[in-house]
Amino acid sequence: MKKSVFEVLKSATERLDAKNFDSTRLDAEILLAHVLNCRRLDLYVDADKILPLEMILRFNELINRRLEGIPVSYLTGTREFMGLKFSVNENVLIPRPETEILTEFVGEFLRSIGGGFFADLGTGSGAICVSILKFVKNSRACAVDVSQNALDVAKFNAQKFHVDDRAEFFCGDLFEPLEGKIFDAIVSNPPYIPTSDLKSLQTEVQTEPKLALDGGDDGLNFYRRIISDAPKFLRDGGLLAVEIGINQASAVKNLFEQKNFADVGSLNDLAGIERVIFGRNVDKVLSV
Ligand code: GLN
Repeated sequence: MKKSVFEVLKSATERLDAKNFDSTRLDAEILLAHVLNCRRLDLYVDADKILPLEMILRFNELINRRLEGIPVSYLTGTREFMGLKFSVNENVLIPRPETEILTEFVGEFLRSIGGGFFADLGTGSGAICVSILKFVKNSRACAVDVSQNALDVAKFNAQKFHVDDRAEFFCGDLFEPLEGKIFDAIVSNPPYIPTSDLKSLQTEVQTEPKLALDGGDDGLNFYRRIISDAPKFLRDGGLLAVEIGINQASAVKNLFEQKNFADVGSLNDLAGIERVIFGRNVDKVLSV
């Protein structure tokens, strides 16, 4: 039963297609490249090469798990974000492309002030915090997560990209471990899915940690807490920026305005959906 790269990819794609998965060919290629420890491009260069049986068995095992709904990123243990190959596992949310908008925005802000000290609340894999540290010189961060297992992944990624000397990691609930610190910027992609919507999420998303997704009854619980406490932890003029879910923009903007944030605004993703809300802290004492 000799099979070439081309044949193996074709039959795996067909199996995924039969179960109505999306991006089936891409997923099959990523998984085969993972097993063969090569780039996706190399699969095309070597399309006619006969694969060792052991490789075929390992690949088929991954396709079986993919058919059970396990995301490709958990199967390979990696996900690319901001051009960096982050390590991920089932203890962290898989970084999404739209979160690069928030990351770039906060990175630009810090760069414009020559670097600075920022907090990442609910850091998960550390994708936001580690990317900013990697791309902004003279930046330092405190990253917080309530899950120690998630923090282990974030720390691993900080080491992987050589920014661990500029990051401190805290296990705790939002601002709780940061008492007394003052930041130039605070960034967060908190859980924002309304609890009742969790059940109807795609099978793949269901395999991600509930803790990273569940935003309470209306999905806004974490914004209420973050926006209300942030002024105490931001210097005058400091930036708070958060990612939001679909249809949450006006409610979250209101929360910023109620807390007297200045220059409140939003950023759209490529689909034209408001994805990021931000505002600047104004020192209440100076502004009265
Ligand atoms: N963007 C994720 C999703 O739609 C949710 C991430 C979050 O809750 N912060 O599945």
